[in-house]
Amino acid sequence: MRDEHLDSVIKKRIFKTMDGLAKNGMECYMAETAAEVPDIVKTLIEKGATVASGGSATLNETGVIDLLRSGDYNYLDRSGVSGDAVKKLFRDSLSADVYLSSTNAVTENGELYNVDGNGNRVAALCYGPDSVIIVAGYNKIVANIDEAVRRVKTIAAPANTERLGCDTYCREKGECMSCASGDFRLPSGCRSSGRICCSYVITAHQRVPGRIKVILVAESLGY
Ligand code: SF4
Repeated sequence: MRDEHLDSVIKKRIFKTMDGLAKNGMECYMAETAAEVPDIVKTLIEKGATVASGGSATLNETGVIDLLRSGDYNYLDRSGVSGDAVKKLFRDSLSADVYLSSTNAVTENGELYNVDGNGNRVAALCYGPDSVIIVAGYNKIVANIDEAVRRVKTIAAPANTERLGCDTYCREKGECMSCASGDFRLPSGCRSSGRICCSYVITAHQRVPGRIKVILVAESLGY
């Protein structure tokens, strides 16, 4: 059972972040638990829509990927796809009706921070699909962009290289190579062919209000 006092602190931080996101033109939703997320997502996607997603532990943990595979949508499913078919799927994803992803971090000021290896996820976040849905646990909330950069170098990237089986320093040591020398500048890192930190995107104030919808969950999800 969740501690009610801690729960209260988590929700206050979520509301503060939602306020920042709303000021930046992003639509916000709060889910008390991961189990509530698919029902919120259902209200944001029309049946029959073409949908695509970035690779995400959060979308799996919340059951959103299962929802996308339910048959109600034309889901451009990347699982089990390889070679030229992946290239095509990533390009087709840029013209999907809806793109779903998590985020590497979200600041209390209402900015999203994402770092990609291929760049397909940040490309769809920036431009293409008319609607983008982001799902993030409260553990992704940080005070500012400096903290977001540090979060990727010490949590998100090492865990993702483990998930993806990339041969990188951070997979072996649990933090970015740059951290060992106290270098926390945004682009610093390794020169490995398996590097997953290649494109860095900060999503700030949006010109198209409501294109990006953010569902913040009062549980720790993904990394
Ligand atoms: S730059 Fe390299 S070592 Fe640093 S977090 Fe990214 S993949 Fe890991």
